[in-house]
Amino acid sequence: MEAKAKKILTSTFWSASGWKQGGLANCSAEDFEYAKNKGLMFDPLTITHDECISRLRQIHEHEINQEKVVKAFLHSLTTRKVYLRSALSSWALTHELCVHAYHAKQAEEPMYSSCAYCNNNRLMSDEQYIHYDLNVLQFERVKWGGVRHNNLIYCLMDLEMISKEPELVVTKDDVHILKEMIQAINECDKQDGARGLEKRWKDVFPSNKHERDSVLEIWGYAGLLVAGSDFRKERGRGTDYMSVATWRGEDSYSRERMEYLFGTYL
Ligand SMILES: [Zn+2]
Ligand SMILES: [Zn+2]
Repeated sequence: MEAKAKKILTSTFWSASGWKQGGLANCSAEDFEYAKNKGLMFDPLTITHDECISRLRQIHEHEINQEKVVKAFLHSLTTRKVYLRSALSSWALTHELCVHAYHAKQAEEPMYSSCAYCNNNRLMSDEQYIHYDLNVLQFERVKWGGVRHNNLIYCLMDLEMISKEPELVVTKDDVHILKEMIQAINECDKQDGARGLEKRWKDVFPSNKHERDSVLEIWGYAGLLVAGSDFRKERGRGTDYMSVATWRGEDSYSRERMEYLFGTYL
């Protein structure tokens, strides 16, 4: 990632005291052009749900594969290139989606979207996006490894970005970290929630709390961390998490999914 463009993106939204007011308005026209030319910032996007879905299908069929997103995730562990992580969840959330129209089937119990197909895949989606500012999503991706992981438009941007990454190398150290991450899950107490696992990951890979939270969400959406029940008392009680809000240590991880995604390395 080109350093000056990254700095432009970051300083548009963030300062030493946190989020900046004004968003894109903080970015000069000259800087914006620069970061756009480097492929890191974008003009406002107008796109329909249906266009997002068909573009995603195209990406899955021709431009990325499972191996690429798995490698990107592993490569990010030692390098701390946090923006390479969420392709794993973006891939998992959208891989099984068939081509469909927003109004083709209405969700009976909309939790994420009125579109039944998106809703069933835990995807938040709108019928259309008008002058949508992707830059804030890109900033979150670059700063923490993403925040709004299950937004259709985030998944699309994320996979577009990862499809442009050159071949990534996975090292022994990356794999060692993966194994320690899994070991930490095994060591969780039954009653530990996602916060407990986050703390156990603290010394496992170079990261801050926000980055670890992001990885937990990614593993939740990737189907690695699955809550045994959605209706535990944690639900709606203001845990900081989305995909792993009701996960507990006793749920451990999905052996099948771990094998499917990372089996080559384990
Ligand atoms: Zn949909
Ligand atoms: Zn409509």
